[in-house]
Amino acid sequence: MKVYNTLTKRKEEFEPLVPGKVSMYVCGPTVYNYIHIGNARPMIVFDTARRYMEHKGYEVNFVSNFTDVDDKIIAKAIEEGVSAQEISERYIAECKKDMAAMNVKPATTHPQATQEIAGMLEMIEDLIEKGYAYNVNGTVYFRTRKFKEYGKLSHKNLDDLRSGNRSLLVTGEDQKEDPLDFVLWKPKKEGEPFWESSWSEGRPGWHIECSVMAKKYLGEEIDIHAGGEDLIFPHHENEIAQSECCNGKPFAKYWLHNGFLNIDNRKMSKSLGNFFTVREISEKYDLQVLRMFMLSAHYRSPLNFSAELMEASKNSLERIRNAVSNLKHLLEKAPAGEMTAEETALLPELESFETKFDAAMDDDFNTADAVSAIFELVRFANTSVNETSTAAFVQAVSDKIVKLADVLGLIVVTEEEMLDEEIEKLIEERQAARKARDFKRADAIRDELLEKGIILEDTREGVKWKRA
Ligand code: AMP
Ligand code: ZN
Repeated sequence: MKVYNTLTKRKEEFEPLVPGKVSMYVCGPTVYNYIHIGNARPMIVFDTARRYMEHKGYEVNFVSNFTDVDDKIIAKAIEEGVSAQEISERYIAECKKDMAAMNVKPATTHPQATQEIAGMLEMIEDLIEKGYAYNVNGTVYFRTRKFKEYGKLSHKNLDDLRSGNRSLLVTGEDQKEDPLDFVLWKPKKEGEPFWESSWSEGRPGWHIECSVMAKKYLGEEIDIHAGGEDLIFPHHENEIAQSECCNGKPFAKYWLHNGFLNIDNRKMSKSLGNFFTVREISEKYDLQVLRMFMLSAHYRSPLNFSAELMEASKNSLERIRNAVSNLKHLLEKAPAGEMTAEETALLPELESFETKFDAAMDDDFNTADAVSAIFELVRFANTSVNETSTAAFVQAVSDKIVKLADVLGLIVVTEEEMLDEEIEKLIEERQAARKARDFKRADAIRDELLEKGIILEDTREGVKWKRA
């Protein structure tokens, strides 16, 4: 598998630090409002990368944070007259609902910055001791120039940065030794949330949060660090400086960045006001359509949001769903028994779609080509499966479509069909219970099914069921 690494500006062979295991950190949202579909892009594309690595057999430890202390959260709290914690908790809960609706798997750990202050105090103290940070009147700054490799991720030259940054100096910042220095800890302002520290009652800077959470949940060296491309500088550059100076080790092996989701070719962002929330989109579309839309482009390319592209994605998704639904109907009447010789001869072709799919995903997660491989498989299903196909063959083709779609996080089986599978599992369990003469359990299952509106009929050919 090859991945494009922002650090080296090359596609590289992916070799995790520990064979078979992947540690991955994705910068999460600042929670002061509903997430917009620009924020949803890294969630969907890196969830897909995770699913693919799991499909390849890796055990993925996936950490994604919530930034729950920030100027914008505080401003919103003041506006509503509630605590900052109330705002962040509300929007973390809403964000988790959106993620579930987009079929984004929950992270192995979702740390929150406010729960990790002790680790931040420790890392800042360590950086001060090592001479990489200094305290001026309660504000602690990172001594950027002391880290000789600063700029290696964003491929920026320190002197260019210095001249560029000079104009950005704002009042109160002239206490810094150098305009390039950035904040690790800042004193509270009146009414703001704060924590005790030996420098001031205050709160951490944004960059230190991720360095600390990545270290705590994944270790000092990690495989993949990811986020939107706007985070390359300064956020990720600063994370590298903090982590590498503190731990004395390279921080992340591979740095992955998604391109922007644009609208009218401008970055969708809260500050520009040109955004749609995931919630708004969910009122018009099944969010699987949004997922399909995101996967139709390479994750590093800019992607322009439009009604036309959403409609095209809706059609694409329907094409796959229709194929699966047709196979399901064929399966109901398909003859049992072993596959025919002709069907067996088609199995290598059936496998070839997965090989194509994997080859696309192995090439820096080329989801657009992976989706094309699924379409080829759908065409194969539509032409190679018919009323005379054996159940074993129909099932094999259907399973393959469902499996590959699932690697992309696309749900192609309708709720009703999923329910069917659930019912059949329960019926099997009831049969097993009866065989074991556990009639109490068997009756309990019959009642449970009845509650779902399912009526069982014991016939000579076995158990049949119908909806009441
Ligand atoms: P924020 O809450 O702004 O820190 O953003 C959370 C994540 O969403 C970060 O990884 C950002 O890079 C990403 N992001 C924000 N806006 C966009 C956009 N328009 N397109 C793609 N990614 C974005
Ligand atoms: Zn981060």
